[in-house]
Amino acid sequence: MKEQPKNKILKIILGIAAIALLATICSILIFMNSNNKNRDEKELAYDELLVQIKENKIEKIEMTVGSTTLKVKQRDVEEEKTTIIPNTQAFVEYMQEEIINNGNELEFNQVQPNILLKIADVLFSLLPTIMIVALFIVILKMQGLGDKGKVYGDEGNTTNITFNDVAGLEEEKTEMIEIVEFLKNPKKFNDMGAKIPRGILLCGKPGTGKTLIAKAIAGEAGVPFISMSGSEFIEMFAGLGASRVRKLFEKAKKISPCIIFIDEIDAIGSRRTSGNGAETENNQTLNQLLVEMDGFETNETVIVLAATNRPEMLDKALLRPGRFDRQITVAAPDVRGREEILKIHAKDKKIAPDVSLKSIADDTAGFTGAELANVLNEAAIIATINKHSEIEKSDIDEAVKKVTVGLEKHSRVISDKDKKLTAYHEAGHAIVSKFLSTQLDVKEVSIIPRGLAGGYTMYKTDEDKYYISKTEMEEKLIALLGGRAAEKVALNDISTGASNDIEVATQIAKDMVTVYGMSDKIGPISLKHEEPYEPQPFGEELEDQVGKEVKEMIETAYVKAQQILLANMDKLHAIAQRLLEKEIISSEEFENFF
Ligand code: ADP
Ligand code: ZN
Repeated sequence: MKEQPKNKILKIILGIAAIALLATICSILIFMNSNNKNRDEKELAYDELLVQIKENKIEKIEMTVGSTTLKVKQRDVEEEKTTIIPNTQAFVEYMQEEIINNGNELEFNQVQPNILLKIADVLFSLLPTIMIVALFIVILKMQGLGDKGKVYGDEGNTTNITFNDVAGLEEEKTEMIEIVEFLKNPKKFNDMGAKIPRGILLCGKPGTGKTLIAKAIAGEAGVPFISMSGSEFIEMFAGLGASRVRKLFEKAKKISPCIIFIDEIDAIGSRRTSGNGAETENNQTLNQLLVEMDGFETNETVIVLAATNRPEMLDKALLRPGRFDRQITVAAPDVRGREEILKIHAKDKKIAPDVSLKSIADDTAGFTGAELANVLNEAAIIATINKHSEIEKSDIDEAVKKVTVGLEKHSRVISDKDKKLTAYHEAGHAIVSKFLSTQLDVKEVSIIPRGLAGGYTMYKTDEDKYYISKTEMEEKLIALLGGRAAEKVALNDISTGASNDIEVATQIAKDMVTVYGMSDKIGPISLKHEEPYEPQPFGEELEDQVGKEVKEMIETAYVKAQQILLANMDKLHAIAQRLLEKEIISSEEFENFF
């Protein structure tokens, strides 16, 4: 969770107030102190005083205990004077000698100090220390150690987010309903003897809505939501992480029923080590978290939700019963979920009536909720820049591209040779795919560089699939190698531009053999290596066979891609030529070549 701006302002005000208070105290002290010293304007020098005592010119001396400033009244002078003496003890002894032994008639009074002045004096001398301590407190407060209420990004308010704000994720929401019921009416569950999980781990990549669903639970149940990110526990002061965990739970217990949300729990919850320094600090924080999870009383209705993208990294102790013993995977949305998410985020935007959210959902397979929200926001920005009165389809298409691979880089200067190579490469992918029945239809071919790629061929997406057939995978290999094959057959040269295609193709071929058991020669055996140099349980021979099979698959695909292109050389040249002219061709234009 990011820190709320409101909270930041509060901290700044607090800091200013503390400094102002300090300044006031300082000036009062300085004033009192100076008042004390300069009440009498005239000063009588110490050696002069000693001379006048001897000459019996002094009528009265008043000495405040502990002070080196004397009040002196001379016999023939109306007004009192002050004298600073170097040493009080010595002066008292001197006066006793003078009065008792020498019979001096002066009046010598020792008075108790004015308590207020005395305090002011002491405070004044302590001023530097006080200021340093105060400053330290202010700094700690800003760090969030001080007052418990200021520790957290969220101030423990109920969110006004409900399940209606969370699109898709129907199964996850269903699972969470019992948690909501429990938070609303814990007694009912406790009376029945039902145990509700204390800790729930939400697993999924960033932006899939883990924070959102945690907030929605709090919103639905009408309970406070307090949150903290795992990385925030890692602090520059040793031991602070553990103390933060303690304070977080302390606060939660105080305001229970409530929800604690710990984002990026892997930052503190990764496996404990026997290391030192930062690692020990991390271990302390984790141990504290374990202690807190175990320390809940039955009457404390606190549910701890934690989010991570790497559940396998977590210390096993965290996952034991009574701790985070329930895991819910929050996956990227499917096509229907994407449409639902788009609907939610389109609500507050001016979108042209002819824009179909369904078709945007079709084009955005693999996008997370956060990325979809980002697409619509980018589209609104692009529409504004393009001076459209509403967000149009073209704005959204542009936004999708922008979110996918970064802005189109029209400005980058590309040599004609590079352009030609890219044109043939992309035309190759597109043409080869066209002749493969399992491959998706081409949506757009472009030689405008995006991100790291010099060009791209975009395919229309179809429904989300759970299974992929062997034929489909084989044809995928052919389509991937279509780029390299086009360079070869048309230009009789090959380039580094195909490196990513080759990487992906090799991985697919390897998976076909070792994971999916699709090689006839090897059969359905899993040969996946966990570690690259793990000894092979099946022996070298089988391993060699895997290499041969992968090589053969790739070679077959490469040959097939070249065959398709050689049979369509006229189209390859024509499409590449058109790409060089226009840089982008749509699916309709592409189809017109056939
Ligand atoms: P995570 O915690 O998984 O990293 P967030 O919950 O912070 O992701 O999601 C970021 C933003 O993305 C949310 O605030 C919301 O705007 C949007 N979002 C993500 N998933 C969804 C969803 N299922 N429905 C609606 N909006 C979503
Ligand atoms: Zn390619």
